Amino acid sequence: MSPRHHPSVDVLAAYASGTLESGFGLVVGTHVEGCAECRRQVSQLQALSGEALRALPQAEMAGDALARVMARLDDAPVPAARIETDRRPLLDRLPLKPRKWITPGVWVAAVDTPHDADNRVYVLSVAPGWPTARHEHTGAEFCTVLKGAFRDEIGLFQAGDFAATEGELNHQPIVQGDEACVCLFATEGRLKPQGLLGRLAFGYANV
Ligand SMILES: [Zn+2]
Repeated sequence: MSPRHHPSVDVLAAYASGTLESGFGLVVGTHVEGCAECRRQVSQLQALSGEALRALPQAEMAGDALARVMARLDDAPVPAARIETDRRPLLDRLPLKPRKWITPGVWVAAVDTPHDADNRVYVLSVAPGWPTARHEHTGAEFCTVLKGAFRDEIGLFQAGDFAATEGELNHQPIVQGDEACVCLFATEGRLKPQGLLGRLAFGYANV
C-alpha cells in the first residue's frame, strides 16, 4: 500500500540537500524509503546540481521557482533510487534505547541517533484503546507511522504515512484498528504535555 501523506516539496528539498536537522532527516528518510513517489522526487532533487540551480536567472529563484524546476524535471529520466534495501522491519533497524512503559499499553523509546540537543527523536507505541497524550507543540514535529494507524483532526495516518506539524497545535491522535500504533517522531524543543498520561509519556521522551 502506498503512503497517502507525504512531506512537502520544501521538506523533501531540504532532505535531498542534506540540510535537514539529522533527527528530522531520519523521520523523513524513513518515509522516503517506503514511498516510491518521494524516492522519485528526492532523486530528481539530488540530480539538480548546484550548478543547475545557479544557472537559473536570478528572477526565477523567487516564489515558485522550485515548483517550476520540478515541473521541468518531470520529463527528465529518473536516476535509480539510491536508497539501500534492507528487508528487516523498520522498527528492528532503528537503534532504540530501552523501552519505557508508561502504562500497560503505551511505551516510548528514545532513538540513539545524532540529533540537535534541543530536539527529541523517539518511538512511541500506543495500543488500541489507550489514549495518546494530549499535548501542545511549541515547535515543529515530524512523524512517520511504522506500524498500525491513528486518526487526528487532519485524517487517517497508516504505516508509511508522514505527518508534520508546526508551531502551536493542541491535538490528541486516536489509535485505529486492532494493533498498536508505533510511530517515529522528531520534535523540536520540549513538548507541553497535558494531563497525567501526557506528563508521564513526554516526561520520558524529554529525558
Ligand atoms: Zn511520500
